[in-house]
Amino acid sequence: MSNENVLAGKTALVTGSTHGIGLEIAKRLAECGCHIGLNGFAEADTVDQIVAEIQLSSPVNVRFCEMDLRDVDSIYLALEAFAGDFGTIDILVNNAGVQHVSRVEDFPNSKWDEVIAVNLSAVFHCSKAVIPAMIQNGWGRIINIASVHGLVGSVEKAAYIAAKHAVVGLTKVIALENARHGLTCNAICPGFTNTEMIRKQVQDRAAEEGRMTHEIELQMLSEKHPTGRFIEPDDIGALVAYLCSNEARGITGTTVAIDGGWTAR
Ligand code: NAD
Repeated sequence: MSNENVLAGKTALVTGSTHGIGLEIAKRLAECGCHIGLNGFAEADTVDQIVAEIQLSSPVNVRFCEMDLRDVDSIYLALEAFAGDFGTIDILVNNAGVQHVSRVEDFPNSKWDEVIAVNLSAVFHCSKAVIPAMIQNGWGRIINIASVHGLVGSVEKAAYIAAKHAVVGLTKVIALENARHGLTCNAICPGFTNTEMIRKQVQDRAAEEGRMTHEIELQMLSEKHPTGRFIEPDDIGALVAYLCSNEARGITGTTVAIDGGWTAR
C-alpha cells in the first residue's frame, strides 16, 4: 500500500511546528494527506500565514493547538479539546525543544527545569494523552525528535543531553508497551540542522569569540559532520513521513540518526 493511501485522512499533531524542523514536518505530512495540528510560540498573524500556506499546497484541515509544553495541565486540556474538535490524533510528533548552553556549575536551575520540561516531560505527557486512542484504533505513530545528543555527549549542554538521552529510553518503552497495538514509536536523532536553534548558537559563539559566523559554522561542521553540510529541516520531514508509512511498520523502538556522519566516528 502506498504511503499516501496510509496517511491520507490521518490527523497529525506536531509540537513546536511554528518554525524550524517542526514546520517542515507539518508541511510534509500535509503533502501526504494528513490533517495537521500545529503548536508552538508565534504571533496570531504568523500562525494564520502558516495555516494558509499549508492549505494552499495541500487540501487538508489545519488547526492550531495552543499549549505551553512547560505547563503539564495545559497539555492534557489542550490535547483533549483538540481531539474533541478536530478528531483523534493518529500521529504525534514530539518535536518542540529548547536549548541552554552553559557549564554544569554555571547552569541556572530554572534553565535546567525548562529544558527538561519541554524536551523530556512534555514528550511523556503528550504521548500519555494520545496512546489510549491509538490503541483503540489499532494504529498510531509516535515520533520523537531527539538529537544526536540523545546518543553522544558534548560539553555545556547538560540539560539538553540528559533530556535527549532520556527521550531515547522513553521511545523504547513506548514501543515495547504498544508493539502489539499497531503503534510504533521511534526517535530521530538529527545533527546540526539549519534552523533558528542552531543559528542562535552560532551567533552567540561568534559574539563570544569575536569571530565571523561563517567561520564558526565551518568549524562546527569540520568538527562534527564528515559530510561538511548542515542537515536541512525538510530532510527530517521526509524521514518522519517514511516512519509514518505502512512500509515502516516493522521499525519501532529505535533511533534513526540523520547527522552527516557525526556518530559514525
Ligand atoms: P526551533 O527553535 O527552530 O523551534 C522550536 C519550536 O518549539 C518552536 O516552534 C517553538 O515555538 C517551540 N517551543 C519552544 N518551547 C515551547 C513550549 N514551551 N511550548 C510549546 N512550544 C514550544 O528548533 P528546531 O531547531 O526546529 O528544533 C526542533 C527539534 O529538533 C527540537 O527538539 C531540537 O532539540 C531538535 N534538534 C534540533 C537540532 C538543530 O540543530 N536545530 C539538532 C538536533 C535536534
